[in-house]
Amino acid sequence: MARYTGSVCRLCRREGCKLFLKGDRCYSQKCAYTKRPVAPGQHGQGRKKLSEYGVQLREKQKVKRAYGMLEKQFKEYFNVAAGMKGVTGTNMLSLLERRLDNVVYRMGIGESRAQARQFVLHGHILVNGKKVDIPSYRVNVGDQIAVKEKSASLEKFKAIAEQATRPMPKWLEFDPTKLSGAVTAIPERDDIDLTVEEHLIVELYSK
Ligand code: SF4
Repeated sequence: MARYTGSVCRLCRREGCKLFLKGDRCYSQKCAYTKRPVAPGQHGQGRKKLSEYGVQLREKQKVKRAYGMLEKQFKEYFNVAAGMKGVTGTNMLSLLERRLDNVVYRMGIGESRAQARQFVLHGHILVNGKKVDIPSYRVNVGDQIAVKEKSASLEKFKAIAEQATRPMPKWLEFDPTKLSGAVTAIPERDDIDLTVEEHLIVELYSK
C-alpha cells in the first residue's frame, strides 16, 4: 500500500500542531514544529485565511496523519462510526484509538505509532496469547496485550521495561516489568488527548 514517505515533521508544520510522530524528539527542543511553527514551503509564513471547507479538510488531515492512515482506510472508520449509536465524531476517534498499533503505542511499547505498527507487523505482539500482526486489529474490553516472550529479550523491549514513563490512558493497564497489559474500558472522548474538532470532519464527510 502506498504510504507517505516524506518528512513527518512537515506534516506537523502543515497541520499547525504537534502530531507526535517521532517519539522522544517530539518532547524535546529539537522538535521541528517548536523551532519553526509555520507551514512548510516558500510561502508557509504567509498562510491565507482558510475557507470553511479548508478548515474542515485540515481537521481531517490532522487526525488521519496522527494515526498514520490513508484516505480510503480513514473514510471507512467514518462510515463505521456513522452507523453506530452516539456521536459520530467521538465514535470515530474511539475506533481509531482501539487499533492495535495505537494501543501498543499508548502502552509505551512503541516510541511512536509508526514504531508500534512495525512491532505489530513483525509479529512481536500477542493479543490474548495469540500473535496478531494486523495493525488495524480492533481491541475490546478485557483483551490482554503483551510482547511475545521470545521478543521480550530483544534490546529495544528491554529498554522499554526499564524506562517506561509515559502516562497511561485510564482505559488501559500496562506492567512494564512484564511487558503486558490489558484493555479495561472503551476509550471515551476525554481519554483521547488529540486536540481536534472532530465535528468538522463529520461535516466534511457528510456533504
Ligand atoms: Fe511533529 Fe514530533 Fe517532528 Fe515535532 S518532532 S514536528 S511533534 S513529528
